[in-house]
Amino acid sequence: MSQVAEVIVDVPTMQMNTPYSYLIPAALTTPLLPGMRVIVPFGNGSRKVQGFVWQVHEQVPTTHELKTIDSVMDLSPVLNKELLAMADWLAKTTFAFTITVLLTMLPNALKAAYERWATPNSDLDPASKKRLFGEQEKIELTDKLPAAQLNELMGLYRKHEISVTYEVKSKGHAKQVTMVKPAMSVAELQEAKQQLRITAVKQADLLDYLVTQTDLISQPALEKTLGITSTVIKNAAEKGWLTRFQAEVYRDPLSRAVDKTRPLHLNEAQQKAVSAICAATDDHEDTTFLLEGVTGSGKTEVYLQAIANALEKGQNALMLVPEISLTPQIVGRVRGRFGKQVAVLHSGLSAGERFDEWRRIDRGEARVVVGARSAVFAPLTNIGIIIMDEEHEASYKQDDNPRYHARDVALWRSRYHHCPVVLGSATPSLESRARAQKNRYQRLLLPTRVNQQALPEATIVDMTQELQKHAESTFSSPLMAAVNDRLAKGEQTLLMLNRRGYSSFVMCRDCGFVLKCPNCDISLTLHMDSHSMKCHYCGHEEPIPQICPNCHSHHIRYYGTGTQKVETELKQLLPTARILRMDVDTTRRKGAHERLLRQFGNHEADILLGTQMIAKGLDFPDVTLVGVLNADTALSLPDFRSSERTFQLLTQVSGRAGRAQKPGQVFIQTYNPEHYAIQLAKSQDYERFFLTEMKLRHQGNYPPYYFAVKVTASDVEERVAAAAIHQIAAQLQAGMSQSAIVLGPTPSAIARVNKRYYYQLVIKYKQEPQLSALLFNLLNQAQKNRKGLQIAIDNNPMSFM
Ligand code: ADP
Ligand code: ZN
Ligand code: ZN
Repeated sequence: MSQVAEVIVDVPTMQMNTPYSYLIPAALTTPLLPGMRVIVPFGNGSRKVQGFVWQVHEQVPTTHELKTIDSVMDLSPVLNKELLAMADWLAKTTFAFTITVLLTMLPNALKAAYERWATPNSDLDPASKKRLFGEQEKIELTDKLPAAQLNELMGLYRKHEISVTYEVKSKGHAKQVTMVKPAMSVAELQEAKQQLRITAVKQADLLDYLVTQTDLISQPALEKTLGITSTVIKNAAEKGWLTRFQAEVYRDPLSRAVDKTRPLHLNEAQQKAVSAICAATDDHEDTTFLLEGVTGSGKTEVYLQAIANALEKGQNALMLVPEISLTPQIVGRVRGRFGKQVAVLHSGLSAGERFDEWRRIDRGEARVVVGARSAVFAPLTNIGIIIMDEEHEASYKQDDNPRYHARDVALWRSRYHHCPVVLGSATPSLESRARAQKNRYQRLLLPTRVNQQALPEATIVDMTQELQKHAESTFSSPLMAAVNDRLAKGEQTLLMLNRRGYSSFVMCRDCGFVLKCPNCDISLTLHMDSHSMKCHYCGHEEPIPQICPNCHSHHIRYYGTGTQKVETELKQLLPTARILRMDVDTTRRKGAHERLLRQFGNHEADILLGTQMIAKGLDFPDVTLVGVLNADTALSLPDFRSSERTFQLLTQVSGRAGRAQKPGQVFIQTYNPEHYAIQLAKSQDYERFFLTEMKLRHQGNYPPYYFAVKVTASDVEERVAAAAIHQIAAQLQAGMSQSAIVLGPTPSAIARVNKRYYYQLVIKYKQEPQLSALLFNLLNQAQKNRKGLQIAIDNNPMSFM
């Protein structure tokens, strides 16, 4: 009997979550293991796809003939047992394909790229063959082929005169470097030096080095150290003084050295928290802690000491931070404590760097992982503690398939490893705080700032009143007075422009025409740096119009407040102030984020003007003033979390002021001065906010009182999408209890994106044992009759929009 492998193939549109059976070639005598990647034939043609071995077993008699695995890509599994089990669970809870989940877990370098090649069949006429293929046996089908050639090839393919084959290419490769080591004994090397001409200084230096060499060194490093050329080393190799060999090295994403730090002496509240967490690590308990600490209360020090304890006990640590606050500051603090044992994973790394960090973790060389959302899949083993900083952050939820929340994955891993999870925040999510209320999470409190400094004093500025006093401006008089005061004292200011639910657009003053994206139902955003109008959803770009495309009037002007426009206004108001701007445009290039923060930290600027990016994690002692230019833009969004998000953002950004000796001050400009989210952010009263918001959620039957699922149907034809969502609504309602609430169906908030129409419904429910099966059934049906129609299911959506 031969062996059969169950393989999850990389064809997400063809099936649900069932593996396909393949024979293992008899020549493969070393057993295949689950988690290895293989290349298998798929479908009728000569298509080759990548797959993951899911299980291996003895062949059982079947009616149909099995295909055989083509080749094996890995010598050992790229996904371990834990990650495979997690993928199974995650696919089920997020209504995603197992293959999509498996690929999400891996660094890009390990995802296959497919190449398509065209080869002539025997009945292709020689003239066409010569013209298309020349002397080549096959040509690659890339998007760079001229359209005419592509058309001809397509025609021939339909007439079966050429074939198309798929080849899988693995992109991952380790970086190699030439290493140098002595090839002679010390005596022989000294002997060689005796023989040198007196003028051969460089060679003498090299021999001296080789005599005393203790560590391996790379050839480039050696050339640099001794100031010699590669010819000197080449000659030395020929003379037999040294040997050269290739070795694998890691690309180090953090080239700059970090100063080593020592554990701080903890205050009482910190000590209590650290003790509780360490006890759970030591006792292998999967406790979830909610570490609630005001900004500047020293949460990071608690994390670091809890990690240190796990490392001392021989265990490893995973620390998640939101992408936006994955600043060099926080990474530096972890690296400063744990040095080279730390691996960093985030989207700013190149594919090569990410792959190298991933392998360092996989091989057990890195024992602490710091990273953003997808780092929750880091192949760490023997985890002793998991930390999730700023656990309320929306970016922990992925808004594409698989729609997972990193917090859920962290909790799953904690149960798997029997280790604690620490969810840290100054403003916990309502969900987590509610679970702590029910004692499902253990609450740990850091009620005061470390330096006993008071939280900054906040003032609400009513912008409707300001408008009556003077001409329209982004800056109120009290805020400007405070900024001027800081300029005079040489202190620093942070100004935040809330971009959520806001953008600058172009409108005609005569006819009201707004320039919209031709593909999406949304206005185009003005970008001054590229002098163009861009769509934030599909990437469409066009020039800024000078005359109205609708009525040809010249009275077309910009509305809204982009960071660039605010910067221009600020420069006019404060001609001598040094201003840095931080937004998506100024931080796009690699390292730009870090450079801006370093400049600000070095006091090379007085004001840092930015988007939400500046709200989190920054710790600058000379910042004594924070101004929020528009606190309420997000409040008007039709989103049940809009108050929660506004409260969190205001509290976070306020926390940037007065972190050291000098007291801080905050100005919150708003058109809704009475709104509870703004009032309670002013007093930094999280508890009262929690209670107020919970009452509203209870009245409105919203999470965390209800669970929610959002189902979206989209199609290039609006009526197809609309018909589908109505059918889905009927089908779901028939299978659910009376107590489930269905919102919709309605067109989505942005009804058309990238030429597709979106319709949605939201189900709110307390207990629906059938729902999961119903939803999977939906996905299966959509698979069978899919043409343009796509169904997406978002379990526990971040918003209902
Ligand atoms: P949070 O993450 O809660 O906002 P941080 O961890 O950034 O707070 O701490 C704020 C500041 O206080 C940091 O500069 C940190 O080094 C310092 N700090 C933290 N704990 C202590 C301590 N026990 N003793 C002295 N300084 C501390
Ligand atoms: Zn668009
Ligand atoms: Zn017009």
